[in-house]
Amino acid sequence: MKNIIIFGAPGSGKGTYSDEIVAKYNMGHISTGDVLRGEIKNGTELGNIAKGYIDNGQLIPDELMIDILAKTYDALPKGQGVIFDGFPRTIPQAEALKKMLAERGDDMGMMIELVVGEDVLMARLLNRAKEQGRADDNEETIKKRFAVYHSQTAPLAEWFEKEGIRNTFTWKGSKELMLSEIFAAIEEQK
Ligand code: AMP
Repeated sequence: MKNIIIFGAPGSGKGTYSDEIVAKYNMGHISTGDVLRGEIKNGTELGNIAKGYIDNGQLIPDELMIDILAKTYDALPKGQGVIFDGFPRTIPQAEALKKMLAERGDDMGMMIELVVGEDVLMARLLNRAKEQGRADDNEETIKKRFAVYHSQTAPLAEWFEKEGIRNTFTWKGSKELMLSEIFAAIEEQK
């Protein structure tokens, strides 16, 4: 199985579709947001550093993130493919991921981009706040996260385009419809 990078704004469904893909293809899954929330929960030094950025809707510095990513990747079983969920979020992270995988004789596989309108994203995130109580799912922090997404992460879509691995899926009102399109693309390219 190829590696998959799942890409999109906060609330676009990266975690939801990752879980479906992982269940179907038995791949490894790295959610950098989940890794960081785990560190915060365990009260580690890294968690303390990350908390300041996350609560403020900002990105954790690239150098730190790249290090965490490599360690998490190396701890996973080899040969099953990995879905990268929430990483990369900047061009330096993308360059580092490409290099890290190449050094291990691997590559980025395919990129899945989720495109969802901002009104739908905001409604989903506020709903998630009620269900999961994530500290960064409040209106003020969500707006900051959208701004960070537009300035630092969205430009990466073009970077993936140049790499020739960008596959874009636009929200059409149904998770099932999205999933069937995503699975069809994976089947074609896996
Ligand atoms: P997520 O669960 O993917 O929405 O991530 C939650 C928060 O964790 C983000 O708003 C960032 O503060 C931080 N974070 C997660 N992944 C990254 C990353 N690749 N680079 C920098 N910060 C990240």
